[in-house]
Amino acid sequence: MKEKKELTVKCPTCRVETPWQGNAFRPFCSERCKMIDLGNWADGSYNVESVEPPDFSDEGQDSSNSMG
Ligand SMILES: [Zn+2]
Repeated sequence: MKEKKELTVKCPTCRVETPWQGNAFRPFCSERCKMIDLGNWADGSYNVESVEPPDFSDEGQDSSNSMG
């Protein structure tokens, strides 16, 4: 009886068991799941609390005529 134990991880996105070794997208099962996870992070961090009003500054053009 031979039992080969392979290291597997569960994909954080779809919970599918995927081999760790030889997996370019670990701990994800595929590139798609990796992208989904990254998308979730980007979406969750889109929380800006400090909202500052835009300041209107007059454009002061200073024209000095030295020769006149
Ligand atoms: Zn997956």
